Amino acid sequence: MTVAQTDPGLRFWLHYVDGCGGVTESGADGTLIMLPSLMAAEFELPDELVVTADPDVAHEDGAVLLTTGHPVLTRAADAVLTDGDVGIDMVAAPAGPAPDTDTLQDAIREQVPVDHGRIDVVGLPTRVDRPILRVGALVTYTVSAEEYYQERLECWVDAISGLPLRPDDASRLARAARADGPATAPASIVNTATGALVHVHHILNTAAEQRRGMLSAQASRAHQRELAHARSYYDDALQSLERRRATADASRAALLAARAASTQDECARRLLEIDEKYQAQHEIRPYRLHVVLVPGWRVPVDIRRGARRYPFAFDWLAPLSTYAAERCPRCHAGAPLLASKTCLGCQACLASSPA
Ligand SMILES: [Zn+2]
Repeated sequence: MTVAQTDPGLRFWLHYVDGCGGVTESGADGTLIMLPSLMAAEFELPDELVVTADPDVAHEDGAVLLTTGHPVLTRAADAVLTDGDVGIDMVAAPAGPAPDTDTLQDAIREQVPVDHGRIDVVGLPTRVDRPILRVGALVTYTVSAEEYYQERLECWVDAISGLPLRPDDASRLARAARADGPATAPASIVNTATGALVHVHHILNTAAEQRRGMLSAQASRAHQRELAHARSYYDDALQSLERRRATADASRAALLAARAASTQDECARRLLEIDEKYQAQHEIRPYRLHVVLVPGWRVPVDIRRGARRYPFAFDWLAPLSTYAAERCPRCHAGAPLLASKTCLGCQACLASSPA
């Protein structure tokens, strides 16, 4: 993997250039970029240039070093945020009918294992459009007083369950053909989408926290060095005061003891200051919210345990040939289902409060 592919700042920039109608072509010595002339003028760059995130390549081959924090990246990020992009997208409807009952039943039994239960399809599927949210955000990570990074974060979240899509399903939906004409959504779908935003925020925040942990690992070494340095400085000072106190007369010893106490206070303040300097933070600024309506079929099922039947339904997403994930109907956890003798739940909620 080249540095261009791994540096998130450069990746963001290449993505932005693609979106603005430019051409990018990666090679061993950086990425060749051809910019539309309007964009080149706006960014004060030549129409054609080679960029890299590798300082050695930039040094040897004269490519432009473009990494996180470069003013060109910051301007692109600002442009993206200003044009904040909100809309409804409709994936083209499937040409044929729903898969037959056996296919739908085999697929749901394979995809959704139910402890002690068996899933039977009990009716004909009806046509639905399942709302999926595509959210983009720019995250600013501050890992120390002098160091910050900006990165793009994208997530795809099922608006009904609030569960994230698997990455390969998300990229298939991103590529799937869209329906012709303007897409509209009924108010109920807009409400569902709005209701899912709390899950979206949680998903983005978790991803940002993980990334922040990785970014601050390096700063953390500098942090530890600075703490160790301060501790050894104050230890030396305190030891020297102690040596002098041991041989001093009573009044001078009292003076030295007071100095030692104030040195200890000063040390605690200094350590706190250093901790504050390295307090990692992140800020999430969403710039895209698309409701993507994914055509599919709602399949009515019974989840059976012996003679007990629990009615349920799963949505078959036609462009992905898979079912949308559902939460536990009892506690709303995104956990595997379990059919008990008296109700349908998941392992977690039925273990904690047996029905
Ligand atoms: Zn549950």
